[in-house]
Amino acid sequence: MAGLDLAHVSKAYGAFEAVKDVSLTIEEGEFAVFVGPSGCGKSTLLRLIAGLDPVSDGKIAIGADDVTRRPAGTRSVAMVFQSYALYPHMSVFDNIAFPLQMERRSKDDIRQQVEKAANIVQLGTRLGDKPAKLSGGQRQRVAIARAIVRKPAIFLMDEPLSNLDAALRMEMRTELTRLHKQLGATMVYVTHDQLEAMTMADRIVVLNGGRVEQVGRPMDIYHKP
Ligand code: ADP
Ligand code: ADP
Repeated sequence: MAGLDLAHVSKAYGAFEAVKDVSLTIEEGEFAVFVGPSGCGKSTLLRLIAGLDPVSDGKIAIGADDVTRRPAGTRSVAMVFQSYALYPHMSVFDNIAFPLQMERRSKDDIRQQVEKAANIVQLGTRLGDKPAKLSGGQRQRVAIARAIVRKPAIFLMDEPLSNLDAALRMEMRTELTRLHKQLGATMVYVTHDQLEAMTMADRIVVLNGGRVEQVGRPMDIYHKP
């Protein structure tokens, strides 16, 4: 685990600046949630942290490591997307195992890590199934387990519950809060759902027009006098 430090981070696409001079520290173990209107730069900022896009300016540090110029695969982060991004032809086991197989870990080690992660997300009995046999919520649990096995310093989640129906979203909010506590993980979570932000965040970062507009605890942000 580690915290995250952004210093004067900007991102331009041509003449358009999607992220403008964002400075922000997220503590180790903190659950930070980025909120704000569509197009305010939430996803872009997450992609910059992940290294999926290079910054135009500024610095990004994970713990003591300056990762600004490091490509995505070398940063200790794991990202979960709204679309799950699972491999449809592969079993749940193989989907979760994929990052470990890329690292050429031993078969025993892989099996142990995959079973442990699958149990954490309550999919221990579905390891042989293909994603098509699972519900949306279960598919997102597979994606979360695939992030867990990498033991990242920071989990990055981009609207992970937006494709789920209301009942499942409620269930998964509880799940993610439990997961955060159980793993002691640093989480950076993007949503446009105020209820998700209020129920899960230690700290909310409000973005607007690519800038940080406000940072505070949920009660400071949503319960103004
Ligand atoms: P949010 O996640 O808050 O909805 P985004 O970070 O996806 O916002 O986008 C912020 C702004 O940057 C939007 O205006 C979007 O169209 C623009 N943008 C994002 N990615 C690109 C890109 N690759 N090229 C050009 N513009 C982009
Ligand atoms: P999301 O915010 O759910 O990731 P988007 O539609 O904003 O979905 O982005 C999907 C992809 O398209 C991303 O890779 C993003 O960088 C890119 N993108 C978003 N807006 C633009 C844009 N105006 N021009 C070019 N690429 C864009």
